[in-house]
Amino acid sequence: MSEQPVATPLDVVPRSATPRSPATRDLGMSAKLLFPTREIAEQYYLPLIYTACRTCYSELRPEEIFARAAEGRVAPEKQQDLVRKVIESGHGSTIEHIVFTFAISGVTRTLSHQLVRHRAGLAFDQQSQRYVNYKRPAYMVPGTIQDAPQELRERYVAEMDESLAFYSELLEAGVPGEDARFVMPNATRTNLVMTTNLRALIHMSGLRLCTMAQWEIRRLFQLIRHEVFGVSPFLGSFLAPKCVPLGYCDEDRNRDEHCPIRPHKDNVLAAWAEKKAVAKAAGRELPTL
Ligand SMILES: Cc1cc2nc3c(=O)[nH]c(=O)nc-3n(C[C@H](O)[C@H](O)[C@H](O)COP(=O)(O)OP(=O)(O)OC[C@H]3O[C@@H](n4cnc5c(N)ncnc54)[C@H](O)[C@@H]3O)c2cc1C
Repeated sequence: MSEQPVATPLDVVPRSATPRSPATRDLGMSAKLLFPTREIAEQYYLPLIYTACRTCYSELRPEEIFARAAEGRVAPEKQQDLVRKVIESGHGSTIEHIVFTFAISGVTRTLSHQLVRHRAGLAFDQQSQRYVNYKRPAYMVPGTIQDAPQELRERYVAEMDESLAFYSELLEAGVPGEDARFVMPNATRTNLVMTTNLRALIHMSGLRLCTMAQWEIRRLFQLIRHEVFGVSPFLGSFLAPKCVPLGYCDEDRNRDEHCPIRPHKDNVLAAWAEKKAVAKAAGRELPTL
């Protein structure tokens, strides 16, 4: 009898496949919008951005523009129209006037390390592994390991449990938390509060909703987008993978277009070169890029 090939975790998600959404699994993490409420977002956020935009082109004082917008004397559709045009033109300071505060829980230290790489327009406060002496640190099992052969999965769980049991032993032996934490794995869960202005949030979402982003942080930004939609569908609509506003994909790892959301820029430029050559052959010159 021939032996069946043993499935490895990498067999589960081939690199060339269309990336799956991490939303198909419950990863035990959450992102809740603490501020603003829907009422605050509806009452202030669009008028605030509108005021920032209009102030640049108006003789009126900002407080007069704000009053007209907030009291509905400027139709919300008109406000949205201007704000959309300004955002799409990249005039980013106008959307730095509003902020969103999220309670982020149950994410791993792997994720938080990636998240805090973002610097501009953000504030983070994270649960300290120095000051918190965990009674039972929690950890995450990635989907590929959940789907892996039983032996591998059990070994992963055993390794995590052993590391975290050793952590507790170190604490009991009097080792301070700031040193005992050295045995904690990257899979250890953590909580943080993140406040971000809208410009930074759109920028981060562009990078982290991209299918090239790591699955856990991608899932976080799906949850974040869901929360923002809950208070403002208009503002939530700007949270998208960066290729959506760009119109093309600029990710080196997607030159084969295995993610089909937008064409890769190489192919866009090749199509443009072809169009130019056809135009030239017909005696017309197209503008140079
Ligand atoms: C898919 C993916 C893979 C990654 N892989 C790695 C990796 O392997 N190793 C690694 O180390 N990192 C990696 N990163 C992190 C990445 O390099 C950035 O550090 C991170 O995404 C933060 O983005 P940002 O630089 O746009 O910073 P943000 O703080 O979000 O800044 C927003 C924008 O503000 C401007 N800005 C901010 N700070 C400055 C400044 N000091 N000077 C000038 N302009 C500034 C820039 O225009 C910047 O784009 C990865 C990120 C992604 C999305």
